[in-house]
Order: sequence, then C-alpha cells, then structure tokens
Amino acid sequence: MNTDTIDIIGDEHIGTSPETPLRPDAFELSDDIKIERIQKHFAEIMHTLGLDLTDDSLSGTPHRVAKMFVQEIFSGLNPANKPDIKLFDNKYHYNEMLIEKNITLYSYCEHHFVPIIGRVHVAYISNGNVIGLSKINRLVQFYAKRPQVQERLTNQIAAGLKEALQSEDVAVIIDAVHLCVSSRGIRDTNTSTLTASYSGKFRDEKTKTEFILQVNNSKQTV
Ligand SMILES: [Zn+2]
Repeated sequence: MNTDTIDIIGDEHIGTSPETPLRPDAFELSDDIKIERIQKHFAEIMHTLGLDLTDDSLSGTPHRVAKMFVQEIFSGLNPANKPDIKLFDNKYHYNEMLIEKNITLYSYCEHHFVPIIGRVHVAYISNGNVIGLSKINRLVQFYAKRPQVQERLTNQIAAGLKEALQSEDVAVIIDAVHLCVSSRGIRDTNTSTLTASYSGKFRDEKTKTEFILQVNNSKQTV
C-alpha cells in the first residue's frame, strides 16, 4: 500500500473488519517481553524526534508508555483479560428493558493511536437470565482497550453481550469524540460520532424508539 492510500484510509476511517485484526501468534510473547520491546522502539521514536532521553523528565517515558500499552490501554487485545460473566436467574421477573446509560468510554483510534472519548448506552431485555450490572461496564472496557474503530467497537460490545446473556435482544449506542478529528486534521471540535447496533426485539421500531428516548432523556443522571 502506498503512503497516499494509507493517508486516505486513515483520515476517512474506512477499512473496517468485524474482528480486531490480530495475528495468530499475537500472544506468544509474554507481557514482560512485549514491554521490553515496545520500550526500546518508543525510545527510538522519541530519539528520532530529537528528544533528549537523558533528561530526567523523559528518561522514564519509554518504559511508562510500554507498560501503559500492554497492561492498561491495550490490555483488551488479550482474550485472557475478557471478563468472566456469570448468568443469574431473573428472580425478580423483570421482563422489561434494562438500560445502562452513560458508560464512560476511553478507547484509541487504530488509524492514529489517539483517544476516542465518549459514552456507551446499552440495553437488553431478559429472556430469563440476567447479569451483574457492573459486568456490562467491564465488557465495554474490555473491548475499548484495543486500537479500535467505533463501528467495530459497537458490534463487538453487542456480540459480547449477546454471548453473555445468551439472547439476541440487545442494543448498543456509542456517542464519541475522536481526537484525530477534533484535535488534528480537520480540527472540528463539535463533531461527535454516533453508532448503534440493534438486534432481536430491538429491531422492532417501538422497542428501539423507547430505548432511544430513554437514552436522550436526562442524558446525565446524578
Ligand atoms: Zn483516527
């Protein structure tokens, strides 16, 4: 691929595949070795930019960045970190829509490696099973902690919820700001990107509308 094509794909954010494009040998190296390698390469990037790595303030940066990549912001690449979600019987017989709103989202654009910041709104209708509410947040965080495109992130969260709930009746909306759009390139600070996934009963216009109304109602709760 020539660099002109790479620039176009990056800035237009096209070229999405449903699965995160990982190599089969993605987890053959231990986290410690990954940190060691990334640290070396990041030092090289800083050096190439002309930064003085003997400066007290910069000398620890390659290690900090490497550790942050592997153990925190890209830890969702590793399936071993997927949250274990237990199903419970729906003892309360609550068979209406359950909505979890305003889940904080921090992810990273895979074309520029800069933050995607936003809110995730999730809903499901119990088919007899329920999951702990905090597990929804954990699932969102797991898929967010990868280099991402928002469309794929939306679908991965929906698929993860369907798998956990053993039900198709799931909806996901993501409203997010991409720093590659707002802080560089086109520099539009007012743009946010909205993506959604509706399955099962949420394909029904009435159910979908109820979810959207609830999400838009009192956007921020205490
Ligand atoms: Zn980007």
